[in-house]
Amino acid sequence: MEKVVSLCKRRGFIFQSSEIYGGLNGFWDYGPLGAELKRNVKDLWWKSMTKMRDDVAGLDATIIMHPQIWKASGHVETFADPMVDCLLTKKRFRADQIEPQSGVAYFYTGAKDETRELPEPYSVLLAAGKPPESARKAAVQFYQERGMATPELLGERTEKIENTTRYNPENGSLLTEPKMFNLMFKTFVGATESEDSVAYLRPETAQAIFAQFKNVLDTSRQKVPFGIAQIGKAFRNEINPRNFTFRSREFEQMELEFFIKPGTDADWHQKWVAERLKWYETIGLPKEKLSVYEYKKEELAHYASACVDVMFAFPFGVQELEGIAARGNFDLSQHQKFSGKSMEYFDDETKEKYIPHVVEPSAGVDRICLALICAAYTEEEIAPGDVRIVMKFAPRIAPVKVAVFPLLRNKPPLVEKARQVFELLQSQFTTEWDDRGNIGKRYRYQDEQGTPWCVTVDFDTLGEKGPELLDTVTVRDRDTMQQDRVKITNLVPLIAGKLRGNK
Ligand code: ATP
Repeated sequence: MEKVVSLCKRRGFIFQSSEIYGGLNGFWDYGPLGAELKRNVKDLWWKSMTKMRDDVAGLDATIIMHPQIWKASGHVETFADPMVDCLLTKKRFRADQIEPQSGVAYFYTGAKDETRELPEPYSVLLAAGKPPESARKAAVQFYQERGMATPELLGERTEKIENTTRYNPENGSLLTEPKMFNLMFKTFVGATESEDSVAYLRPETAQAIFAQFKNVLDTSRQKVPFGIAQIGKAFRNEINPRNFTFRSREFEQMELEFFIKPGTDADWHQKWVAERLKWYETIGLPKEKLSVYEYKKEELAHYASACVDVMFAFPFGVQELEGIAARGNFDLSQHQKFSGKSMEYFDDETKEKYIPHVVEPSAGVDRICLALICAAYTEEEIAPGDVRIVMKFAPRIAPVKVAVFPLLRNKPPLVEKARQVFELLQSQFTTEWDDRGNIGKRYRYQDEQGTPWCVTVDFDTLGEKGPELLDTVTVRDRDTMQQDRVKITNLVPLIAGKLRGNK
């Protein structure tokens, strides 16, 4: 993972937000290559979800919405994670993300020093075989932090404990009891900062879709079953942002709410799971790194009838990219209740009136970008001792599609011709110009950013070897490193064809 993070910074995929001020935990910026990659992910999602379907309409709603939306959705009451703090270091963890541990717990009933006795219990978990002294040292530190100069530990006893999540996995110290922590960022709308002007940065894009359900229905001539798709920023004050961009505090979601007739939930849910898995393959995520996690009945929210997470094997473990849930009519019913506006749908054909149910595929742009970067990163030994780093992005997702090089930068006829080729390609594909260093170095540079094709204009292009090669260029393939001679007039159809055909 360090290699991926370092390449991302070195080559301008992802930077720490506000880096010159030391960064801000959980916030990331996309550099020139990252911005292109991210745009490709969003464009391909939007294309497959809206442009290629006549049963989905798009929406682009605001980040700050009426605060009642978050009361209706349940986010004000329940959008919280259980959080625990280390009693020694104060480090904060999400209680449900602590790996169960086993070992010997050292319990103390309290401590005393010359002046007083403190009956506050504390304990430390040690891995089997570790000397008891390290538990005692931690306990002494705990009581010292409570104001005792030279604490004498009281009531030590030990107990073997299996699979506990009550201790800090990093130092064995007892954690606080879990406390709920609301993940929504609060702000104020207008000139006064009072309880009446509180608003929230949306923690998901989905609620705007429910709130605008009626408007979209009335203006788009859609009929159930149909969907509303949206891409946009979401904000969660995550307790423990980690694994690079995987868990950020500001991120982007791509969500679809697909409204259906009650009773067709299982069918549509299966269809959407299949559809979404297919999409992940078209953007080039390897099948063997993708999997699904099906929720058991007892893991489902009370209103949901099914939920499947699309998982990806990241270097730091198998983790969720997208959740696909059959949510019944919970959200629309809640908005009907809170707004007093009907969310019912009238079916012209059957003359039935009902609140539609919904299937929600909800994906994270940043997690998908990270999965693509992790999957693409390859170190290849191309000759003994000669290793190249190559980002094997599927061409349609690659930030730069083609790079154009004049063989030499100080030969005006070469540069002029290469410039013409560059302009021809630039109007069709994301194209980069490079005239620095030797050709070998330029190839390596492009490999590191995953450019599928490099086009070189050389003296043969100018006709120096005779008319057969006049106006031809070499096209070098990133993966095979093979070079083919191609007519300039064939370049655009060749690359367009490869982009269409290639995954
Ligand atoms: P997790 O359990 O990992 O916190 P979640 O189940 O709460 O995620 P959802 O509320 O279902 O996530 O959000 C849908 C998608 O939004 C997720 O599958 C993920 O891709 C993305 N997402 C959610 N939280 C974050 C985050 N903090 N950083 C980046 N992406 C996120």
